[in-house]
Amino acid sequence: MTQKKPTAGTSKLDAIVAEARRNQSNREQGYREKSLNMYPWVCGRCSREFTRANLHELTVHHRDHNHDNNPEDGSNWELLCLYCHDNEHARYLDGESVGNTDASGKDSQTATHNPLAGLADLLKKN
Ligand SMILES: [Zn+2]
Ligand SMILES: [Zn+2]
Repeated sequence: MTQKKPTAGTSKLDAIVAEARRNQSNREQGYREKSLNMYPWVCGRCSREFTRANLHELTVHHRDHNHDNNPEDGSNWELLCLYCHDNEHARYLDGESVGNTDASGKDSQTATHNPLAGLADLLKKN
């Protein structure tokens, strides 16, 4: 008796996860491209200028630190070089826990990068 149980559900979940991942990367490509079309290729902090050759060092910062908040008018985006972008986030985290070495604040960046963030919504719709 080696009857295999059908693994119904697994492939469907895989498809949903794959779809969520695809949406996530499409969305990131989308807002990066839009903001680069919308704003001059200059860092908003140090005014360093960028060309196609080094454009990968220019990143899109979310003013409210919410990567899912991407209004069409670009009001939540700011172009920053890698260094200033790092500083911006370090400053933000410092402000939250002044003189506090507790590591509990460190998740605020990774949480918004969760590729499964939209999964709960997808499942709700079904
Ligand atoms: Zn800069
Ligand atoms: Zn940022």
